[in-house]
Amino acid sequence: MTADDVFTVLDVGGTTLRVGSWAPATGTLSRVRRVPVDGMHRDPGAPVAVVQQRVVEQIVREVAAHTGGRRPRALGVAFAGPITAAGLVLAAPTVWGRRGDPLPLGDLLTRRTGTPAVVVNDLTAAAWRYAATEPGDFCLLTVSSGIGNKVFRGGEVLVDADGHGGELGHWVCDLSPDAPLCDCGARGHLGAIASGRGVLAATRRAAHTDGAGFRGSALAALCEGRAELIDNRAVSEAVRASDPFSTDVLRGTLTPLAQALSGVFTSVGVCRYILMGGFALAVGEPYRRLLVAELVRLGCFGLGPAQIDAMVSLGVADDDHGLIGVGRLLAERTPVLSPGAS
Ligand SMILES: [Zn+2]
Repeated sequence: MTADDVFTVLDVGGTTLRVGSWAPATGTLSRVRRVPVDGMHRDPGAPVAVVQQRVVEQIVREVAAHTGGRRPRALGVAFAGPITAAGLVLAAPTVWGRRGDPLPLGDLLTRRTGTPAVVVNDLTAAAWRYAATEPGDFCLLTVSSGIGNKVFRGGEVLVDADGHGGELGHWVCDLSPDAPLCDCGARGHLGAIASGRGVLAATRRAAHTDGAGFRGSALAALCEGRAELIDNRAVSEAVRASDPFSTDVLRGTLTPLAQALSGVFTSVGVCRYILMGGFALAVGEPYRRLLVAELVRLGCFGLGPAQIDAMVSLGVADDDHGLIGVGRLLAERTPVLSPGAS
């Protein structure tokens, strides 16, 4: 295989930039390199425009290093933020913070690398990974530090041209005035309650309000009995070990998540839900089972318990979603290479 046979793919998140090669003929990912992103975490005080410029320079540099200075055959970037169909990054709270002007990342990378760059939201890219193996429509749901979703239907990800859609994490599910604060700045959003961060906060609150329950729990044994030492690793481990205290807290946060999925199901009729994201996959099968139990309890109009159980599954527990997904998306949009073509 020569360099002309592979696409250059990147996945730029809040902490890590990943770059690799995608071979469309064989559907394989190779030469993956992970480096810290030159984002706001490297220099929290820097103006947004400066951080944006630095991230662009880093992407250009990584692409050149990856291809040995040659023009990439095709270039795809999965990026953590809402993005228009034209490759305009509207926001990137985890990369350069909440403020800042939209950045025409697609145009900038096209100009700098000489190859038309396809820039898409990272979860949209991840949906393309599963589109290759899912027989029908599905909803991808990520539960990590935040919550996001994408619906893949009829061969495309359902977002509008301005990048709206797939933001279930910002659906308001708690109307109380002191509801948990979302990282977008609003209160009571699903992402503030059912994300890994939300579950951690709920667990610490429960450890304070139910001190006796906490002290007797498997979770307490994992963190020296101190609520401030609880972290997501301990919560996932305790739930996997069927600790009743931790499981009860998690179950409480799964109620609004199940309501949200039930809303997606009843409105658009998608019958497949794939769970991904660091927190959901760290808990694993118990997470899936607890979510299914909540969906069964609330009901999915027209479905029985066995059908609800069959519609929820766990995604692949690796870090390659964005790279593989954007590779598959590029393959959809790039003419197939014939042998010997350059
Ligand atoms: Zn929000």
